[in-house]
Amino acid sequence: MNMPLIVGNWKMNLLTDEAVVLAGGIRDFVKSLSGIRVVLAPSFTLLSEVRNVLSGSNVGLACQNFYFEEKGAYTGEVSAGMIKDAGCEFAIIGHSERRHLFGETDALINKKVSCAVEKDIDAILCVGETEDQRKTGKTFEIIEQQVCKGLDGLKRQDLQKISIAYEPVWAIGTGENATASQAEEVHHFIRKTITDKIYGNGISPLTILYGGSVTPENCSELLANKEVDGALVGGASLNIDSFCAIINAAKSV
Ligand code: PEP
Repeated sequence: MNMPLIVGNWKMNLLTDEAVVLAGGIRDFVKSLSGIRVVLAPSFTLLSEVRNVLSGSNVGLACQNFYFEEKGAYTGEVSAGMIKDAGCEFAIIGHSERRHLFGETDALINKKVSCAVEKDIDAILCVGETEDQRKTGKTFEIIEQQVCKGLDGLKRQDLQKISIAYEPVWAIGTGENATASQAEEVHHFIRKTITDKIYGNGISPLTILYGGSVTPENCSELLANKEVDGALVGGASLNIDSFCAIINAAKSV
């Protein structure tokens, strides 16, 4: 089992002054903690300032997205080389908001995962079913498709640079989290899919995060589940008290 990983996805929130205060508070809280990895994913415009705040600390930096091409005429896009240059060790890839609001396909997401690995950036590949897909019994089909297509062409040693975040779309930002047993069931299925359908036995332990309305109130039960290696936290990562409470819970389970 890997060290628990807690990632704060700030989405399109915060201006520089607010981000500096929040990142500084989290850095100070995490300073004396060991055995846990905490990562912040600010928007692109905040990366430089947040990097300065986190410099020399044990809190990592992630981007929320990037484009797989190296450089060129891609107006509005940011490359993996650029996000690495901005200090990111991690990249969230294929978040459901990218898939559903911006039309990202499994094929595009796969190119981003490959590109991240190539650039030595830790990829956090997000997968998850919609409410409708769950209600119509398609959860496992969808998860298998997103996992297999997302990892297409990647080698088994690349898995050391990849985590999966199971984020049911119906749970993101809704206040309705998956139960620990729902998360357990899907996380187990993801591990089985990755061994049975792609790489076979003997792969190194894979980190699978749960995301979707994680709060200080529900995190202990979710994180105590043996299949859950950490959390991808949206809304609750914007508040110092709630994010630190989640970090604390991850440390204690
Ligand atoms: C997310 O942004 O990945 C997320 C899970 O958001 P929230 O925690 O707000 O549901």
